[in-house]
Amino acid sequence: MPNAKRPVLAVDVGGTNIRGARVAPDGRFLARHRVPNPVARGEEAILDALAGLCRTLAGRSSPAVVGVGIPGAVLPVRGVVASSPNVPCWHDTPIGPQLAARLGLRVVIDNDANLHALGEQWRGAGRGIPNLLLATLGTGIGGGIILDGRLWHGDGGRAGELGHTVVDPEGPPCNCGATGCVEAYASATGIVRAWRRRHGVRENRPRPGDRRVLRDTPATIAARARKGDPRALAVFAEAGRALGIAVATWLQILDVRTVIFGGGVSGALDLLEPLIRIELERRLWGLDASKIRLLRAELGDDAGILGAARLAQTVGDRR
Ligand SMILES: [Zn+2]
Repeated sequence: MPNAKRPVLAVDVGGTNIRGARVAPDGRFLARHRVPNPVARGEEAILDALAGLCRTLAGRSSPAVVGVGIPGAVLPVRGVVASSPNVPCWHDTPIGPQLAARLGLRVVIDNDANLHALGEQWRGAGRGIPNLLLATLGTGIGGGIILDGRLWHGDGGRAGELGHTVVDPEGPPCNCGATGCVEAYASATGIVRAWRRRHGVRENRPRPGDRRVLRDTPATIAARARKGDPRALAVFAEAGRALGIAVATWLQILDVRTVIFGGGVSGALDLLEPLIRIELERRLWGLDASKIRLLRAELGDDAGILGAARLAQTVGDRR
């Protein structure tokens, strides 16, 4: 049972800002604050910023636990950040113990996409659903896996990297170095690239007429698709098909019936869902595709903070 009396501190570390809140046991925000992330000034400066933010949030209250969400590979049990693309100076850095020593509080850390999943399960689209996957369709595709109500981390803390599910071995290159990952099709980056490709835009040497196409984002491309623009529809058809193949793979392995989509591209779930469902109907074996729930995340930017709060609560209860 959640600790009924004490609020917790919850922090979401981004490459630009560090956001945090003091959160009541029922999920209400009692205080919010943000500070710039002094990434360029190195480890000590970031720790100072984190500790300062936590002290501001705590005020005169006495929270016992801090939950911190971090972009990158995290080993939650040891409180270590193995690596973080947005905070390159963190490399096998024991942020959890270091921050705990500064604050005199218990500190728990986890991957930010994992905490998005936990937040959505606690207060968002996944309320009351013990098994679910969350895929964040942003610049890349991240994800979190919740089984029996608990985050699944895997042996090395890297479980849930759903974006690197291969949907076509001969497909376009992915940031991870492989080819044909779903991230190369259905992330914001993948969608924008496909849109430019369909207009013959050369990204290095654009022509004057390419300007409009270069300004387009997944949201504006989706708006064009909804008005019937055939090239925009084709881009989302391709992304939806890739996503459908990936989702079918995840569900076939885990027999989970709920997938939540977050991140900017999830605003186009209306365009993607029919294509995803075609692939589920075609590919799922022994599972009823009509029973699969495809949901949009509900908490937006607060999902990570609420997930961090939930993590802190859960740990606090086990003391
Ligand atoms: Zn990849």
